[in-house]
Amino acid sequence: PVRSYASHTAHYGKIVDESGGKIDDVLILPMLGKRSYCGEDTVEIFCHGGSLITRRVLERVLQAGARAAFPGEFTFKAFINGKLDLAQAEAVQELIGAKNEKALDAAEKQLEGALSIKVRGFQQSLTDLAAILEAWVDFPDEGLEFISMDEILERLGSVRQEILSLIETFHEGKILHDGLSLCLVGAPNVGKSSLMNALLDKERAIVSSIPGTTRDLLEDQMRLAGLNFKVLDTAGIRETDEEIEREGIKRSRQAMQEADLILLVLDVQHPELPSFCNELPKEKTVVVWNKNDLQHPERPYLDFPHACTVSALNRTGMKELKDEIEKVVWKHGPPSKEEVLVTNIRHKESLQEAEMALGQLLDGLRKGVSPEFLALEMRTALRALGKIIGTNISEDILDSIFSTFCIGK
Ligand code: GDP
Repeated sequence: PVRSYASHTAHYGKIVDESGGKIDDVLILPMLGKRSYCGEDTVEIFCHGGSLITRRVLERVLQAGARAAFPGEFTFKAFINGKLDLAQAEAVQELIGAKNEKALDAAEKQLEGALSIKVRGFQQSLTDLAAILEAWVDFPDEGLEFISMDEILERLGSVRQEILSLIETFHEGKILHDGLSLCLVGAPNVGKSSLMNALLDKERAIVSSIPGTTRDLLEDQMRLAGLNFKVLDTAGIRETDEEIEREGIKRSRQAMQEADLILLVLDVQHPELPSFCNELPKEKTVVVWNKNDLQHPERPYLDFPHACTVSALNRTGMKELKDEIEKVVWKHGPPSKEEVLVTNIRHKESLQEAEMALGQLLDGLRKGVSPEFLALEMRTALRALGKIIGTNISEDILDSIFSTFCIGK
């Protein structure tokens, strides 16, 4: 009888086994025609939670003739049925996998079609220009007074520039997607472990007053300013004879080089600077003067652009520290909710391909090559853009994209 129900109406009923025994009381919701996620007739069954009931309902439905979906099949159908373009379909995955609020914002924007609109805009401009160039070839003597070659060059150049700007957002997109690594360095006992606990807001690292106890690299995840950080607490860097500690120090130095962000922790009571200070890349370092709750002498001048004063013990100054961290991470300020970001490497590579082809096209035109010999470059650019939203895309690529989706999406 489900077929006779009006679309988008909920109905109460029972799911029964082969012999008529009740499995569960359920609600079913038919969504017919195009008005469903995947653009095909869909029936959703709402049963009671719990893995046993759900499994039994599922088994019964399969027994009655349904087939389990492949990973990403619903979204794939939505794509095939034109409910979503490819970039939007991929955004579904990013939405589900988002590890922080900013990544979620970016995925939502992409799902709404912000990236697709941009890409379609580029395609439109290029198609228009291709038509003009073609006319130029066909009627060279008419002079095409309405548009000069200079203007064509300018318009092509500006599309190329816009594509380049979009490619540049990938740096930010990657930060949202993958997170950043943060490394704490400083002499033993300055309060690195305490600071990390304060940042993580839980007792993660072992805090001890015996110098050199943080021998191992501790790893933890921290969410800060809407981003994910992998926090590396390092063994206190100092010269030592002890074997284990020496290894720890070696690893600290390495972590320091690899980190996206370094917190150099100093003790206000003992303001001498550690010897490795000059090894630190200043732009990605925040100097943290710790133990501000204690009496202390005047601090020496330090030529670092980012610094703040805190007490890890009392957890004061944490807001200032977080602000400094944000300044280091977002060199041009955090991305606004309105900004379209490229977060997907596939999209970035397609944009780069288009940009390169446009570069060659522009070079050729500037050198006076007749546009007819540059048709390939134009086509390459258009095709590369098409790959992002899924026009003319090969089956293998589609397969590889949707196979990474989770089942049921
Ligand atoms: P680490 O060796 O750099 O990791 O330093 P710890 O975090 O283990 O701290 C060393 C000692 O300094 C411990 O006894 C902490 O309680 C103490 N300490 C850390 N931060 C502060 C602070 O802000 N104020 C005060 N008064 N003591 C602190």
